[in-house]
Amino acid sequence: MRLSNEIIFQGVIDYLVEELEYIDVTINLWIKPMKILSIEDGLVTLLCEHDFKRNQVLRSYHGDLIEAFKIELERDDIELDFITKEELEAKEKEKQAEELEKKREADLAARRAEELPMVNPAYTFENFVVGSSNRVAYETSLLACRNPAEYYNPLFLYGPSGLGKTHLLFAIINEILDKRPDFKVVYITCEEFTNLLIDSISKKTDPMEFRSKFRNLDFLLVDDIQFLMGKKAVQEEMFHTFEALFNRGKQIVFASDKQPSELENIDKRLISRFSAGGVMDIQPPDTELRQAIFKRKAESYGVDIPNDVLLYLAENIRTNIRQIEGAIKTLKAYSLIGGEEISFPMAKRVLSEYLKKAEEDNVNSEKIIKYISMRYGVKMDDITGAKRDAAVKNARHICAYLMRTMLNMTFKEIGTILKRHHSTIMDSCDNVTERIKTSEKFKREMESIERELGN
Ligand code: ADP
Ligand code: MG
Repeated sequence: MRLSNEIIFQGVIDYLVEELEYIDVTINLWIKPMKILSIEDGLVTLLCEHDFKRNQVLRSYHGDLIEAFKIELERDDIELDFITKEELEAKEKEKQAEELEKKREADLAARRAEELPMVNPAYTFENFVVGSSNRVAYETSLLACRNPAEYYNPLFLYGPSGLGKTHLLFAIINEILDKRPDFKVVYITCEEFTNLLIDSISKKTDPMEFRSKFRNLDFLLVDDIQFLMGKKAVQEEMFHTFEALFNRGKQIVFASDKQPSELENIDKRLISRFSAGGVMDIQPPDTELRQAIFKRKAESYGVDIPNDVLLYLAENIRTNIRQIEGAIKTLKAYSLIGGEEISFPMAKRVLSEYLKKAEEDNVNSEKIIKYISMRYGVKMDDITGAKRDAAVKNARHICAYLMRTMLNMTFKEIGTILKRHHSTIMDSCDNVTERIKTSEKFKREMESIERELGN
């Protein structure tokens, strides 16, 4: 049977008195005020009143105490540890703080799971690779996150699909959850907002509940706002939500694949609100930035990918960074299953199918030139050649514009393909954008081309 600590300590005292002839004064002054806190194997922790007494005990009675404990506990490996009341209290406080922190983390995880389950905790500002094409969007997101409603309100981020808009929204949320746990933050896609509104209108849920969910917030992030196009009732609700928050000095962030001036069939009041804070674009990354992003992604998947393979990926996956995740997972799976290290020849072999598939699914610059040359009856060679007659120029402008909008290519990259200076390409794109704005007929023409090419 295990003896209680009191009984053990009494045994120690008895030993000191009976065998080592300690006198009462010593026992009462130095030994008795102590208490056994714990015994773990041979390690006995004793609680002392304060530092002075501990020093005295250590100096004068340490050896005797060890001897007494050896006898009492019937083991040879006795070690003594002395801890003062003050230290014990500090330790307990530390433990409480640790428990509090654990609880905070558990609460945060629960809150995340309940309120923001879609927010990927890995999408942080640290994991966002910054280059010239996305720096402004990154920095303004950081500003909005750290100084809500002070600089850009609303903040409106726009850019083609797969270039990190949602990543930045999640980064804002992840930082707020961490640094401002008191903040009420809501992330919603425009589609979900629409569905919730429909539910509340069709009385499946209480309309007041819907309103209070979106109007009593500190921070609202609405993703893919382009889905508002043509939805009158949703726009109305979004407008009032916006006004309610904005007028109370709350930060709102929108993400869209179009800039406000390109959004059609949206209430003018909303468009003017969208444009009133800061409208920031994300441009397609150049090869160097793509390579850096791919490197970071590979690291986050715990895959070691050599630089030549990263370059190969960066050169072949151009339009949508999202595709990289599939490529990295494929490489990882092959190297795990086949036990083969990831190398350039291995990646080429393994990914050729994957990239071909991505290629087939996507339009590419060659497909665009081919299609436009057929549609407008000009030769493919002329589009990239020197001819300057109106029909060829028109076809060339449209090709440049489509490479820009559908493939997210940089002006320089388009210039290389069309054999033009990048400033000429910029002019071509402006020319088409302008005509889309001014001619309804031309606009429909372009829409039909994009549809045909997209399928
Ligand atoms: P969008 O919302 O603009 O369509 P996402 O934010 O969903 O694009 O980004 C697509 C993928 O690309 C995500 O996995 C995201 O983490 C990644 N990504 C995009 N840009 C970057 C970047 N600059 N640094 C790191 N990852 C990025
Ligand atoms: Mg997105």
